[in-house]
Amino acid sequence: MQYIIIPVTTFTQNCHIIWDESSRKAVVVDPGGEPEKLITTIEEGNFKLTKIFLTHGHFDHINASAILAKYFNIPIYGPQNEDDFWIKSLEEQNKIFNIFEYYNFTPDYWLEEGDSVTCGSIKFDILHCPGHTPGHIIFVNHADKFISMGDVLFKGSVGRSDFPRGNYQTLIRSIKDKILPLGDEYQFIPGHGPMSNIGHERKSNPFL
Ligand SMILES: [Zn+2]
Repeated sequence: MQYIIIPVTTFTQNCHIIWDESSRKAVVVDPGGEPEKLITTIEEGNFKLTKIFLTHGHFDHINASAILAKYFNIPIYGPQNEDDFWIKSLEEQNKIFNIFEYYNFTPDYWLEEGDSVTCGSIKFDILHCPGHTPGHIIFVNHADKFISMGDVLFKGSVGRSDFPRGNYQTLIRSIKDKILPLGDEYQFIPGHGPMSNIGHERKSNPFL
């Protein structure tokens, strides 16, 4: 599998495209804005975009979802349905930041712990990691020891838990019970900031 990170919006959210080298089938994870830039990257890269994956329902991770789904005629997978209230409040979320360009949608498939989704021959297992939001999921590829992490764990930090239905203890439990056991070699793309791996965070992250 290959990937490219495309930071979007003033929140520099790490939207990324993952693709299967042999078929060039691709997924876009957390398209949080700047749909034109994403469409250009996808078309110039000759990717066959097949799915949109969402880790959670915060506006800075989902704002371009509806536009991409319509443009490429592809389904939206995730997050877990406890984030329904976040997705339904897309308008309110954007208004707080004076953003007036957003498009409402409902995911085609909610995902649950234990589900798996594919991109060509690449398989991702779903882990439900609440705390930042109640329906936050992460996408884990065991073959390449790779995680699309969203806003659960960052390099040197963890996700905020002061939002509605966020919970710090739940967040830390998600990380300690589900993410750290995956193993030190697992690399991850967080929702914001540089990539890291589980071993580095286990040793040096002050929140763990
Ligand atoms: Zn978030």
